[in-house]
Amino acid sequence: MAATIVWFHRDLRLEDNPALSAALERDVPVIPVFIWAPDDEAPWAPGSASRWWLHQSLAQLEASLADRGSRLILRKGSTEDGLRELIRDTGAEAVYWNRRYEPALLERDADIQETLNADGVRVETFKAGLLFEPWEIETKQGRPYQVFTPFWRRCRERLAPGDVHTAPDRLRSPERWPDSCALDELNLRPSVDWTDGLSATWTPGEAGAHDRLDAFLDEALSDYDTARDRPDLAGTSRLSPHLHFGEIGPRQIVRGLTDEARIGDEPSMETYLSEVGWREFAHHVLYHFPRTPSEPLKAQFQHFPWRDDDEGLTTWQRGETGYPIVDAGMRELFHTGWMHNRVRMVVASFLTKDLLIPWQDGARWFWEALVDADLANNTLGWQWAAGCGADAAPYFRVFNPVRQGERFDPDGVYVRRWVPEIARLDDGVLHAPWTATDLDLQAAGVSLGEDYPEPIVDHGQARERALAAYERIKRSAD
Ligand code: FAD
Repeated sequence: MAATIVWFHRDLRLEDNPALSAALERDVPVIPVFIWAPDDEAPWAPGSASRWWLHQSLAQLEASLADRGSRLILRKGSTEDGLRELIRDTGAEAVYWNRRYEPALLERDADIQETLNADGVRVETFKAGLLFEPWEIETKQGRPYQVFTPFWRRCRERLAPGDVHTAPDRLRSPERWPDSCALDELNLRPSVDWTDGLSATWTPGEAGAHDRLDAFLDEALSDYDTARDRPDLAGTSRLSPHLHFGEIGPRQIVRGLTDEARIGDEPSMETYLSEVGWREFAHHVLYHFPRTPSEPLKAQFQHFPWRDDDEGLTTWQRGETGYPIVDAGMRELFHTGWMHNRVRMVVASFLTKDLLIPWQDGARWFWEALVDADLANNTLGWQWAAGCGADAAPYFRVFNPVRQGERFDPDGVYVRRWVPEIARLDDGVLHAPWTATDLDLQAAGVSLGEDYPEPIVDHGQARERALAAYERIKRSAD
């Protein structure tokens, strides 16, 4: 029986899915497949929050396919074995998928393609997850970019709002469907359920992604340029987990922006596009520097005198550092699986500079807790904050958590939401409770050290310590 297998992975959508569109053009039955193969992704198999998201997203994809007279076949185990088994079971002679870009996965997918080709199966792969594949953009000297601005300028010159593939109304089914696991058999949901906050915050799936984009375009795009740095406002799109799982693709976002943006939105539109550009840049850097999830891009940081401080790490993870903006961010992360970008920068700077704890430890915690955990973006973000990556913040720029709080959460709305035990403190001391008088603390019902911790470090001293540590590696060769 002629049939095409469409292998879904980080492209959990029906609209603008080039592999699916190409399979439909063949006019033979289509067998949509997802294979849960965490071993294929080791050591960066999805963390707990990502697995929760994946479960919900697969449920949505199953339902969307069922509405179109089709099914989603689920398997678990090695991808290569799973695909070969399905080919045997169904007689399919073609497998289509959209390309992934993490180096280990690209290599694995290339191996799978080679094996299937050797079995006589036709494989076709497509671009779906990025505007520009990492090898499409290079400097005039033919080298990868390590600085964002020229990278994005190059992309921007070439960026055109192309057409997007519409979602199919119906998919042609095979005469007999192959066996499938039940979604629950993939065991993606945690055994002890801590995910109420995630369920209350998110609607995973393609429809949820479109709702988010529409709401952002209607309500937040025009102020994005100014509001995007404010964690107390709903100023950003919150599309990151939808983008990571491919429930919406960057081309659809570009199309949506250009179709929906109104006169006067141009500065915000450019800023938003450039943020999507950071995602492109992150994938570019990861592709060309595949060791960066564990090793600093700037080689001298190999010798950085990081501290081994389990207690400090746990205190940071729990949001009990005594710095309200840091604690608010870490609690937002734990509760919702997401954290505002400005606060991600603040908490990452605090971990790596105030506490001198290795950025890799922070990246691991984010990996476990973020619903948008993404190897390219997370690696770039952490190396940026630690000062050791592409286009990184200069090491000597150490974020002052009190100033950051005062500047970006000026009315304390964000801190009061996530650190309610200090909510009654006056704005003037909210971001630095230890500066409040005894009378102020008493009036607000706060006993420092009991209701809310004293600061784990003195920021001024910690900054000096970080700069001294940096001096020790500064002169070693890059
Ligand atoms: P918006 O402001 O609405 O931006 C739109 C989209 O652009 C985002 O959804 C995202 O895909 C992309 N984007 C925005 N900023 C960045 C950026 N700095 N780098 C790369 N892409 C960006 N983002 C992740 O998607 N996954 C991660 O694991 C991740 N880890 C991070 C770790 C650290 C330490 C830091 C500082 C940043 C990290 N980021 C990560 C980047 C950024 O914080 C998030 O993409 C952003 O907060 C998502 O919110 P949003 O969708 O509302 O963003």
